Amino acid sequence: MSKAIYPGSFDPITKGHLDIIERASKLFETLVVVIMENPQKNYLFTQEERLAMLQNACKKFTNVVCCIGEGLTVNFAKKQNATAIIRGIRAVADYEYELQTATTNMMLAESIETVFLLSKPNYSFLSSSVVKEVAKHHGELDCFVSADVKQKLENKFK
Ligand code: ADP
Repeated sequence: MSKAIYPGSFDPITKGHLDIIERASKLFETLVVVIMENPQKNYLFTQEERLAMLQNACKKFTNVVCCIGEGLTVNFAKKQNATAIIRGIRAVADYEYELQTATTNMMLAESIETVFLLSKPNYSFLSSSVVKEVAKHHGELDCFVSADVKQKLENKFK
């Protein structure tokens, strides 16, 4: 059975993430969307809040499960019996970081492939950081996130 994981911070999940999830879910029989902590980031939402938003966004996909992971991404993938790690690439700016991470993972676990999906052009500018900045200044969020995530962002910045 083909299985992939899609790791990220998802703080919060955006329409860009959701597009990657939808496309990856068509490539693999099972997709595990997993919240992994990135020590370089400060989070707005707790892991539990992020998981609830992910689960709500992914309930329409029958082969997608969402969870919280820990430790090295490749070890999590192995525990899940997944053979691929999905990552999204928006622009050249993503490339250097993603290259470093994917190469490290290749050294750690040769059997696990990183699969890059290019962002759709209309989401190539979109990041969780941009969304949080817009929300902080009470900007319009509809084109960036779902109604559920919009509500949660508005509550944070009330
Ligand atoms: P991380 O902290 O692991 O970078 P993110 O939640 O920021 O977590 O991103 C998870 C993955 O989703 C990364 O591969 C990132 O490049 C990708 N991604 C984020 N936003 C978009 C988008 N708008 N379009 C395509 N891929 C995206």
